[in-house]
Amino acid sequence: MEFVYNANPSRVIFGVGARSKVAEELDRLGIKRAIVLSTPGHALIAGEFAEAIGERAAIVYPGAAQHAPVEVTEAAVQAAASVEADGCLAIGGGSTTGLSKAIALRTDLPQLIVPTTFAGSEMTPIIGETQGGRKMTRTTSRVLPETVIYDPELTRTMPRFISGPSGMNAIAHSVEALYAKDRNPIISMMAQESIAALGRALPVLMDDPRNLGAHTDALYGAWLAGCCLGAVGMAIHHKLCHTLGGTFNLPHADLHALMLPYSAAYNRQAAPEAMARVAAALGAQDGPSALFDLMHKTARYKSFAQLGLTEEDLDKAAELAVRNPYYNPRPVTIDSVRELLQAAYDGARP
Ligand code: NAD
Repeated sequence: MEFVYNANPSRVIFGVGARSKVAEELDRLGIKRAIVLSTPGHALIAGEFAEAIGERAAIVYPGAAQHAPVEVTEAAVQAAASVEADGCLAIGGGSTTGLSKAIALRTDLPQLIVPTTFAGSEMTPIIGETQGGRKMTRTTSRVLPETVIYDPELTRTMPRFISGPSGMNAIAHSVEALYAKDRNPIISMMAQESIAALGRALPVLMDDPRNLGAHTDALYGAWLAGCCLGAVGMAIHHKLCHTLGGTFNLPHADLHALMLPYSAAYNRQAAPEAMARVAAALGAQDGPSALFDLMHKTARYKSFAQLGLTEEDLDKAAELAVRNPYYNPRPVTIDSVRELLQAAYDGARP
């Protein structure tokens, strides 16, 4: 056995009610004047956090937007400077975490993240930013948050159409980690455990969206999935979602949810061990088929046609997806990718 394993040094506090530790954890980081970040929709919650931490909140800034547009970041950096903020407190999903990371990249301010979705960005040293309609991604330890507080009570407000796709987005990190080029035993263990936890929790959430036990399971799975995404390289699934999301401005989690069974099926023969672990985690015979069933229970859009893409769009996407060579267990060709996209367009069982 041979492998390389790099652990990302974040401090994680997990548990029902853990958000009560925010003030204590800010003190631990030496943050005395935080910029409190959220999306506009979460401004009220950000305000509640600001109230709870008293004078440690220098400003509430509810300006986060999807895919971290550079203009939004620049305005937030100015706002932080105007109040001499010495740290970021982000309350929200991947978009809010993205803004915090983008600020940290430019200012080196320490970050405390309180996730409210299952996206997992808080555990990664990866940042994606958009400028002029182009999304650029880079990996640097400068953006890895110092502290993350996971409180399952905070994900309970997600309606089904957000929690379902968000959970599938997390599972996608873990599935790809299982066949990553640089996979290793620890990350594979975390990946399988994460798929099992989310696979148990998501169907419960679709019937009972506020179920606290299921939120605890799902957030635990999402944490593990974020660790996987942060530690090993991703392959065709993330590449295609990145290309399609950026080119056609599609909603991030919905796209991941829809694509995952098809990406997994693409690698079914080339990554048999990974697929066996996916199947075992979901208590099924076949990994891609089980992911398809889960997608059908949880996704808002169940085909590219429903997402509003045309068949011509698929031609363009296939061409873009093979432009830069990248690792995938099965070789990536324009024809095979086009076929994968067609199956997702039709919504057929892969
Ligand atoms: P998001 O943060 O955009 O949230 C989606 C919507 O849900 C928003 O309107 C938000 O206000 C709302 N919301 C969030 N939490 C809620 C809650 N508890 N209750 C009700 N509504 C809630 O979406 P996301 O899927 O969490 O993140 C997507 C973004 O994160 C994308 O930009 C993606 O590229 C990025 N991302 C980055 C990484 C990374 O490692 N860099 C990893 C995963 C995702």
